[in-house]
Amino acid sequence: MGTGGMRYGAGRPSYRVKAEQLLRVDVRDWARLGYLNGARNFSCSWTRGGEHTGSIGVHVHSPDVLSLRYTLTQNEVKRDVVDRVSIVRTACPFGGARPWFNCTKCARRVAVLYLHRGGFACRHCQRVAYSSQSEEVMDRTWRKQRKIEARLGLNWQRPKGMRQLTYARLIDKLADCEMRRDRACSVAVARLYAMLGQR
Ligand SMILES: [Zn+2]
Repeated sequence: MGTGGMRYGAGRPSYRVKAEQLLRVDVRDWARLGYLNGARNFSCSWTRGGEHTGSIGVHVHSPDVLSLRYTLTQNEVKRDVVDRVSIVRTACPFGGARPWFNCTKCARRVAVLYLHRGGFACRHCQRVAYSSQSEEVMDRTWRKQRKIEARLGLNWQRPKGMRQLTYARLIDKLADCEMRRDRACSVAVARLYAMLGQR
């Protein structure tokens, strides 16, 4: 559901956009607000310089899956879109869990999805551009991440014999790498106002 219409724009020459030009949703904001604990609906709208730039409805089906609902206008044609997004959680070293979106296109674990080219997806899929000083952050964090990943099993699994705490610390470091990249590529993004809607 929701992926059929997202091929729009595929095959165009690739180009990069700036993160701050895109609407974004951050799973950490919603987790912090307690929106992901169980089934509920809420809506988000964005403004830029006081101007309304967009809004979406969010339906949380369960702590593991939600839908983003919105209307896209492309070439003067309005189209209703539903993106179904899975949420995964990784353990934190001292208890609790960190939520991630699974990108709708590549299934990468990411904290932020951007709306661009007909759907919400991660910054890799949306080809979000980084400033030159963030390139350095990108390089450094990817190098660090590869080193950590080399100690883990496939898909960040805990290798046999690795202590739970060691494992949780490594996962936490991976999360930190991801967060640093997010911060580096989207500092001046349009502010998100999440508002609780009807349940
Ligand atoms: Zn992706």
